[in-house]
Amino acid sequence: MITVDEGVEVMASRVQLKHFSVGSWDNNVYILVDPETKESILFDAPVDAEPILRELEGTKLKYILMTHCDRDHVGALKEVHDRTGAPVGVHAAESERLPLDADFQIEDQQTFALGNAELKAMHTPGHSPGGMSFLVDDILVSGDTLFPGGPGNTQRPDGSFDEIINSIKTKLFVLPDEMKVYPGHGKPTTIGQERPHLQEWIDRGK
Ligand SMILES: [Zn+2]
Repeated sequence: MITVDEGVEVMASRVQLKHFSVGSWDNNVYILVDPETKESILFDAPVDAEPILRELEGTKLKYILMTHCDRDHVGALKEVHDRTGAPVGVHAAESERLPLDADFQIEDQQTFALGNAELKAMHTPGHSPGGMSFLVDDILVSGDTLFPGGPGNTQRPDGSFDEIINSIKTKLFVLPDEMKVYPGHGKPTTIGQERPHLQEWIDRGK
């Protein structure tokens, strides 16, 4: 049973989330931009650097933060990093899978300033050991941890179904209903839309 603090309200976003998808796996590129300072944060760097660099134009890229390091999420990373010079952060459990040396390691609950907003990193392992989700105002970038209709795939050598369910239950489903969820692939959803289905997912995964 999940209990949610009904008093928690989601703050309307002070930042803009630009997103588009690339490649045959429909990988989402997410760029968070502060409208006042034009500072930006990029989440993952899938497939092709050109469209990512184009969308970053006119912004000051502060960080590239990795939700995890599967090949389809890092294809453009080296080029984007080389051309922008922005530091790349990843959870320690995945740093060896990066195609370059990480500039820093992201820790659970670590915060990053973007203009007046504050982004919080949350370690949400299960799809892979160093999986991260990122929270700012009413926006959750969920990587391959939470999708519309269920958790990310854990049928892989380093995956763990119990772990991903625990991550979703303890870190994501404690968030308010209105929280918008932006997954690594496909369409966005909300916490309120997905939370009622947790038990179905657990029964299906057993
Ligand atoms: Zn993926």
